[in-house]
Amino acid sequence: MASANSPWPEGCQGALSLTFDDGLSNQLERAVPMLNEFGLRGTFYISPRGNDWRERLAPWRAVYDAGHEIGNHSLSHTCSRGFADNPNARGLETMTLADIEADVTEAEQRLAEVFPVEGQRSYCYPCFQSHVGEGLTRQSYVPVIAKHFIAARGLGEVPNHPATADLHYLWSWMIRGHHGTQLVGMAEQAAARGRWGIMTFHGVHFGHLPVADVDLRELLQHLQRSPHIWVAPVREVAQAIVRWRQEQGLR
Ligand SMILES: [Zn+2]
Repeated sequence: MASANSPWPEGCQGALSLTFDDGLSNQLERAVPMLNEFGLRGTFYISPRGNDWRERLAPWRAVYDAGHEIGNHSLSHTCSRGFADNPNARGLETMTLADIEADVTEAEQRLAEVFPVEGQRSYCYPCFQSHVGEGLTRQSYVPVIAKHFIAARGLGEVPNHPATADLHYLWSWMIRGHHGTQLVGMAEQAAARGRWGIMTFHGVHFGHLPVADVDLRELLQHLQRSPHIWVAPVREVAQAIVRWRQEQGLR
């Protein structure tokens, strides 16, 4: 039961979501077993691309079965062409809103086949970018995402306030080499402000933008003994906020 002045369950001061991008194998090897050990659930954002997408998704079925959210990270994982040197490079600047919609709905069909959900799952912007076109024709593709997903994760400076956050461009902290004590401090800061903190992880212990597993473990240990912080997948926190906003007449 949520209390009247916040969407969080009774006794919780704030919320925290642990999100992991790109379906990396070290997440399967390190993050998932650690979350399971502490009885905590995260959100894993996956791009189901390639002809072998069914095989690539197969190891994630056990993650889904354990109660973690498998979120949509688009099909093609297209980011700005600003990352490229080639003048003919494709990227978000060469795409239209219709291109994005086709891309994310194809990803959704594939994910729904392996990881069915009731209602909508959450989305995560590749490279935290939410635009198509450039200059005079540049547009936000957030409205396309809002049509198909309950919520979507971007990048920002502070945790999300349940009354004011744009559920379709949620702010998250990019985690990269943070120490366990820093991660604990961020989680506590979100709770102290009655807000929803979202952490974005990539590699765990190895690989791209890694966090050491001792640091992740320190955070999870703290969360396990911190009933005042509601730890839940993005989709579930967003559902609670949608219900609460309706009850409060906020939207
Ligand atoms: Zn990504």
